Amino acid sequence: MMNPSLEHELAPNAANHVPLSPLSFLKRAAQVYPQRDAVVYGDRRYTYQQLHQRSRALASALERVGVQPGERVAILAPNIPEMLEAHYGVPGAGAVLVCINIRLEARSIAFILRHCAARVLLCDREFGAVVHKALAMLDTPPLLVGIDDAQAEGADLAPDLDYESFLAQGDGNRPLSAPHNEWQSIAINYTSGTTGDPKGVVLHHRGAYLNACAGALIFQLGPRSVYLWTLPMFHCNGWSHTWAVTLSGGSHVCLRKVQPEAIHAAIAAHGVTHLSAAPVVMSMLIHAPAGAAPSQAVSVITGGAAPPSAVIAAMEARGFSITHAYGMTESYGPSTLCLWQPGVDELPLEARARFMSRQGVAHPMLEEATVLDTDSGQPVPADGATLGELVVRGNTVMKGYLHNPEATRSALAGGWLHTGDLAVLHPDGYVEIKDRAKDIIISGGENISSLEIEEVLYQHPEVLEAAVVARPDSRWGETPHAFVTLCAEAQVGITGEELIRWCRERLAHFKAPRHVSLVALPKTATGKIQKFVLREWARQAAAASDRPEG
Ligand code: ADP
Repeated sequence: MMNPSLEHELAPNAANHVPLSPLSFLKRAAQVYPQRDAVVYGDRRYTYQQLHQRSRALASALERVGVQPGERVAILAPNIPEMLEAHYGVPGAGAVLVCINIRLEARSIAFILRHCAARVLLCDREFGAVVHKALAMLDTPPLLVGIDDAQAEGADLAPDLDYESFLAQGDGNRPLSAPHNEWQSIAINYTSGTTGDPKGVVLHHRGAYLNACAGALIFQLGPRSVYLWTLPMFHCNGWSHTWAVTLSGGSHVCLRKVQPEAIHAAIAAHGVTHLSAAPVVMSMLIHAPAGAAPSQAVSVITGGAAPPSAVIAAMEARGFSITHAYGMTESYGPSTLCLWQPGVDELPLEARARFMSRQGVAHPMLEEATVLDTDSGQPVPADGATLGELVVRGNTVMKGYLHNPEATRSALAGGWLHTGDLAVLHPDGYVEIKDRAKDIIISGGENISSLEIEEVLYQHPEVLEAAVVARPDSRWGETPHAFVTLCAEAQVGITGEELIRWCRERLAHFKAPRHVSLVALPKTATGKIQKFVLREWARQAAAASDRPEG
């Protein structure tokens, strides 16, 4: 037994205890690799010394406009250098970073800004129209700082301040403020869950530090690494790679638009060694005409949705080396991965790809990942057949949802993060997802809430009932398919196309249903809509439309 008085005698102090924070990574990279390219974007290049200096100027400028520790600073921007600076400058001011999905519509942007009470919004000028619409919905809009990226299209932002002038007001020598306590919040990421409004996932410095360590380890990042930003940084802080790449001293290559030609060009021009991509991006790369194999080894982490083994095989055949990871916004991005095992390399490509399409085992910084029976809460047998809920626990699980104690309690009930994903446990301890218990659609790696689409459909005066489910899609993985019953007195001639148009006018385009069927909805005896029947109908409809004619 440990002597308690010894514990008391040797309390932590500044020499042996530092709160874990990814801000330390930038400070160290600026000391160790001052002249290494930290950021490469078109003809812009910043060394680690410059990235550190610009991030410190941002922290100082935020402080000078009155941002207090713990307050929220939002950013709406694609993968440009300012987005990386925000990952250091905002927490470096003691504030909390809120990255907003650039494809959202004004109503959701307004909801997020209001919900997190953002004090400042850093915004790329391309998003002027949608942002002004969102700001008009707020009683106390944040200070609008405009980023004038040369590659942006459109210049209708009219910000309160320009980003570069804002930085110039800051002191580039002000040290980044390390957190006093590693439990301090670093970021809030809004995710579309099973409810209509997005939920704010609150992450802390400690988790960000540890998940970045896990990312660097599993991805084998080092000072020679060149990381291409194909995964949106707004998506769970780019799975914590915004911090992991800096930890390793590698270069961040920014990419404004995820297009296959641009990806291939960047791989060739900058000697890219690593990138992360949802399965939809891998499909794009496979089918692009410019799909020449890279001349250097390129490691790809894929996840965000289940990657079909055929897509993994096609990427491997092209010389990319694939690692499959699974995670959620609630787990800072990746929390499990399909880890290599002796013998895997010797398998024929197809069998290897099938193995690699499993979600795998806990990553090195996660305590545990397992599958529990949904009724008893007990572990399912490791038989590769019994379905249960995938649960994870450890230091890389969110603090909880902002202002939503009920959702936090149920997500973290019983000491596990409940993923809402249904999986089996194989005899070798690897998990494999088979289905989803939660009502979301994952299109191109982005979550869409069925409920949010249903709410918009119900606003249509002629709609009596509506239910939306995921329809398998060879390009996007899934797309929303709406099943709608019209009112008895509905005007003759209302069509599915009209309802799609209705949704597109009210929702971000990626959320609007691609297919609408006008039907009587299948119900249980108690009148509940049977979504599993609709999922089957959507599956059949997709299979029928994929089948060649004749
Ligand atoms: P991300 O898309 O970065 O993983 P989200 O919070 O947007 O994070 O989505 C999480 C959900 O995405 C998971 O609960 C799961 O349903 C799905 N998902 C993520 N990665 C995978 C994967 N590798 N295989 C299957 N589903 C996945």
